Amino acid sequence: MTNWEYEWADFDNFEKYRDSMNNSINEFVKKYRNLNEEILIQSLKDYEYILTNYSYGGKEGYYYWLKSQINQSNSEIKSKFKDIQDFTMEQFNKINFYRKSIGKLNKDKVIEILKLKNETKYLHFINRIFENEKYILSDKEEKILSLMNEQAYSRWKNMLSELISSEIKIIDDKEYSFEELMSRTLSEDKEVRDYSAKEINKILSKYEKISEHEFNALLSHYETIDKIRGYEYPDHSRHIGDNIDKEFIDILTKTVSENFEISKRFYDLKSKVVKHKLNYYDRTFPVGKIDKNFDWESSKKIVKKVLKKLDKEFLDIFEKFEKNKFDVYPSKGKRGGAFCVHFTKNLPTYIMLNHTDTIRDVKTLAHEVGHGINNELSRKAQDEIYFGTLTSTAEVASTFFEDFVFRDLIQDVDKKTKFLLIMQKISDEISTIHRQIAGYNFEKDVHKAFRKNKHLSSKEIGEIFKKNMKAYCGDSVELEGFENWWIYWSHFRRRFYVYSYASGLLISKGMQKLVDKDKSNIEKVKKFLSSGTSKSPRNLFSEMNIDIYSEEFWKKGLNQINDLLNEAENLYEELYNE
Ligand SMILES: [Zn+2]
Repeated sequence: MTNWEYEWADFDNFEKYRDSMNNSINEFVKKYRNLNEEILIQSLKDYEYILTNYSYGGKEGYYYWLKSQINQSNSEIKSKFKDIQDFTMEQFNKINFYRKSIGKLNKDKVIEILKLKNETKYLHFINRIFENEKYILSDKEEKILSLMNEQAYSRWKNMLSELISSEIKIIDDKEYSFEELMSRTLSEDKEVRDYSAKEINKILSKYEKISEHEFNALLSHYETIDKIRGYEYPDHSRHIGDNIDKEFIDILTKTVSENFEISKRFYDLKSKVVKHKLNYYDRTFPVGKIDKNFDWESSKKIVKKVLKKLDKEFLDIFEKFEKNKFDVYPSKGKRGGAFCVHFTKNLPTYIMLNHTDTIRDVKTLAHEVGHGINNELSRKAQDEIYFGTLTSTAEVASTFFEDFVFRDLIQDVDKKTKFLLIMQKISDEISTIHRQIAGYNFEKDVHKAFRKNKHLSSKEIGEIFKKNMKAYCGDSVELEGFENWWIYWSHFRRRFYVYSYASGLLISKGMQKLVDKDKSNIEKVKKFLSSGTSKSPRNLFSEMNIDIYSEEFWKKGLNQINDLLNEAENLYEELYNE
């Protein structure tokens, strides 16, 4: 089966389903509008029931969302999805009061009751609410903030992305969007890259002044919000929201920044291989063509072999997906890229691919299946309130399995192919780790400068950007003339999100080392993959005796990239430098 099936959807009963959502939620409001410690436990159970069955529109929402991903131009599906989304939002708005009511209860009494009644499962959930409560304002103030969010934030952000994505460039009678120009900078043909980058630069300079105002508006919005809520520094709310702390981020950003030597050495090598200085946009294009093909069947075979070697349960999960949860091939109207998705605990995991038989598609399959395995293990062990992943570790599972498959892929290929594969691999890892941390450093600098000066010109933002990109790219990469390339980096608008790519991959590499050392450590990995959001990374890893607050832990992961780079440098000497 290479297409999705929706055997759970029960689409004839969507209307009844909406009624039951409405009834459950109304009843909840009636029962718990005046919450107190005595009825808390029952309320938590009822709340969890609502989340399990109706979050994101439940079955109906999931069905139309999935459908819309493979029929993007079908406006009927789109409007059906929008309809259930609006309905759900309206319903869930009714119970917005609930978390706030919990935050107003007597914390000590709540903890005592949970322990007394043997419901300690809810302790972490409750503690998170109390932790957040410090930064929550009165109902009226919260309402104003939420209503003002659109003018102060969304409209600015959407304006810029819409302006940029509506740009069309005509090259040889063909129309190219901004995104298409970006992907042309990955071409193996230097002329195509250079020309596309020049056009991108033109578009970015056209919007330079607008972006200056857009970005300043967001920086100012964030500063105001932080002041009102009492966050102490620009990335504080990110730490609280993601259940991490300053110490975690500091050790991660410091260790990676101190190892920018790795990325610089990589670009030196790449520049030697292609025999020219790299431009900023030359960072990721492949240095050669790999013409090994993997059709769907053989891709599956490789991934299954690796899963089985690691743990039989991983293979079992894969075989479950294999029945009808993959949508494999590109088709008209289908969204690009790949993803693994789950809405709630009682709805199945789906994986979308756009398999075109390249070696990259094998890695993508392993990556998405990794997310899927993570889902299934968390589904088995956790209830709805903890089902899912933490932002800081969301990419651990995916990269864990991807890396093991990669190791298998380079086993029996010729040296040239091996060299190309390793070059591509290091390039990806640098983009995920070094580049994202450089982005985090940029954000820190930019928020700090804004809070001091109250306005930053586009030139000033560009200089801060250039400084931070230079720090990880080094002298083999030309940054002059690319000062505006922060403009389209949309993650900067979700402030301080970028660290999570780096933390995920590096934690994954740390775990790979554990398994290499002792195969039985796969149990630790499984425990981690089963933990959902039930613990903070601090508690979770300390229970597993992994010290994520030591530089040594993060260096373990970075050393693995360093080892690959050593191998690439040796292969280069052997292959090209006779
Ligand atoms: Zn992923």
